[in-house]
Amino acid sequence: MREMSDRQCEICGADISGSPERIVIDGSVLEVCKSCARFGKPEDKWSPVPRKIVPVERSFRVQKPKPRDHFRDLVEVVPDYGNIIKNARESMNLSLEDLALRIKEKASLLRKIEREELVPEDDVRKKLEKELKIKLTEETTEEKLKSRGGSKVLTLGDIANIRKR
Ligand SMILES: [Zn+2]
Repeated sequence: MREMSDRQCEICGADISGSPERIVIDGSVLEVCKSCARFGKPEDKWSPVPRKIVPVERSFRVQKPKPRDHFRDLVEVVPDYGNIIKNARESMNLSLEDLALRIKEKASLLRKIEREELVPEDDVRKKLEKELKIKLTEETTEEKLKSRGGSKVLTLGDIANIRKR
């Protein structure tokens, strides 16, 4: 049995006069002096799930606003774009070379796109869409939300609704 006066704060090492404060930090019980008690939770309020202290750096990152045009880059090319291009081209009786000439791109590039080895870049995609009168993009989530009548920020309820589908 140790005497009370022998106890030292497990945080700062100071001698503890009287009863030590028992606190919980990351699931461990520490005996500390009164001035260090604020670093943890009192033992009797300990909950079985230890709460991690959020690093300061991370909470800063969370508060950082997202770039406004973040969603504009999220134009998604449809998954079967290769077939759509090929079918449209063949229905117009165009060879790869013909189409390549019309939109001033290389036939080898178009072949790769039709095989879906390559996702067409925006300018190529737009030329293909115009030339073949097709649509190769999907609406982004933001556009879908807007068409529902709200341009507001996503709420937890919105996210739950999206997951239900
Ligand atoms: Zn202390």
